[in-house]
Amino acid sequence: MTATRRTLIAGNWKMNGKSADGVALATAVAEKMKSGGSVPFDMLVSPPFTLISKVYDAIKGSGVLLGGQDCHTGVSGANTGDISAEMLKDLGCDAVIVGHSERRTDHNESSELVAAKASAAHGAGLIAIICIGETEAERDAGKTLDVNGAQVAGSVPAGSTAKNTVIAYEPVWAIGTGRTPTNDEVQEVHAFIRAELAKKVGADEAGAMRILYGGSMKPGNAKDLIALKDVDGGLIGGASLNADDFWAIGEASK
Ligand code: PEP
Repeated sequence: MTATRRTLIAGNWKMNGKSADGVALATAVAEKMKSGGSVPFDMLVSPPFTLISKVYDAIKGSGVLLGGQDCHTGVSGANTGDISAEMLKDLGCDAVIVGHSERRTDHNESSELVAAKASAAHGAGLIAIICIGETEAERDAGKTLDVNGAQVAGSVPAGSTAKNTVIAYEPVWAIGTGRTPTNDEVQEVHAFIRAELAKKVGADEAGAMRILYGGSMKPGNAKDLIALKDVDGGLIGGASLNADDFWAIGEASK
């Protein structure tokens, strides 16, 4: 974390929440944001697509940002079941997550496709939160930096800037497992990612671009993780489903 990059605490609700509990969660986060006064971090919630309109209404005026969890590469057309970045923007979204490891794995998404989705997000005026990260087998094989370097090179499209792009480093083996890399390991990968970003977007944009850590971030470990020099916040799954825990992560980042 540095004073020049504003901390972002982003929640990924994944495929969780129906109308009543989704609205209750969003309302609770919005209330905390409103009563928190002027906080030195941004908060974003990414509900499933079905809840975006309801969550938009629940957080309106609170300063909490709204994100989608994925988008198509196109603007509109014959793509049954898909959602475009333009549609997310139309619903009031500020951002969209692309390239989450669950999509890379479950939907065979390549870095090339992720870059096209990020580009579509930029075209719609959304911040693209581009996820990258190594599997446990890749880490054990000593390939962590190679894998993340290749994912930066392949997933970050031309036209990416510190304003329209956030990177989320999420070691796949840390997601939902309660395990995290050591703080030194996290800082090493984040610094490496920033250096690789500089090759793509230039040193100034890379220096200003936020790189979030994701993977079992909780109120108990958030402070140390976000205090690391090149960690600018968190992408949070499980703990974002509880307003108290989610807010505590924001507070821990101060
Ligand atoms: C995620 O899926 O983006 C994530 C970080 O999940 P969790 O916080 O539950 O590990």
